[in-house]
Amino acid sequence: MRMIQRGIEKGLEALYPSNIYCISCGSIIDKTRDYALCDVCMETFHWLGQKTCGKCGKILPEDYRHELCYDCRTFGHDFDRGFTCVQYGLYERGVLMDYKYKGKSYIGRKLGDILYDRMSLEAADFDLVVPVPMYRKKQNQRGYNQAAIMARRFAQRRQKPCAAELLQRTRKTPPMKGLGAFERHENLKGAIAVSRDNPYSLEGRRILLIDDIYTTGSTLDECSRVLREAGASRVYVLTFACGTNRKPRQ
Ligand SMILES: [Zn+2]
Ligand SMILES: [Zn+2]
Repeated sequence: MRMIQRGIEKGLEALYPSNIYCISCGSIIDKTRDYALCDVCMETFHWLGQKTCGKCGKILPEDYRHELCYDCRTFGHDFDRGFTCVQYGLYERGVLMDYKYKGKSYIGRKLGDILYDRMSLEAADFDLVVPVPMYRKKQNQRGYNQAAIMARRFAQRRQKPCAAELLQRTRKTPPMKGLGAFERHENLKGAIAVSRDNPYSLEGRRILLIDDIYTTGSTLDECSRVLREAGASRVYVLTFACGTNRKPRQ
């Protein structure tokens, strides 16, 4: 299965060659540009600011008066610490839409490079890289799991093992949009599990979970909970983009 997956990704890479057009606006660029982004898009992206939440890593307004964002102060999390690269705006959204819904799987490698540079700014260390899983049927329809491509690229550059099949979605979950924290939690109950034929021991291991976007963190929380139950000692979370806080000024 894994080989087939790689084959599909390779096929898509050939169909949509990377590093010719900017992954955000589509203008022609040369191959030397970082992350295959043109200068304008590099400037326009909402990169990480000085002020971030000390728990989930969400970007906070510069004049924010707390160490933790409203969500982290109110709900808490099952992971130890989160890190993110950009705030989810119009351009960032465009890149993720192309990546997830237009078959442009090669974008995942560029996002993996962004994650790599982002994480090299942090002291947090980990033993194993794990992507957030997709429901198998959905993944087969799309042809790839977007988090897995990013995770594999990241792990390759960081020279850490990537357990792309470690977590699995055991059932389909309804869309989370518009749901409150409690409903999201209920939605996810028992929907994520450690694969039975997982070859990695999780006992005492530090895991870095990877996903494309961080919104409320409920899926990442559920993954973290499951990993901890399986013995993981620490769980870190790394995403390309983060949403804004529910109450940014509090
Ligand atoms: Zn551009
Ligand atoms: Zn937070």
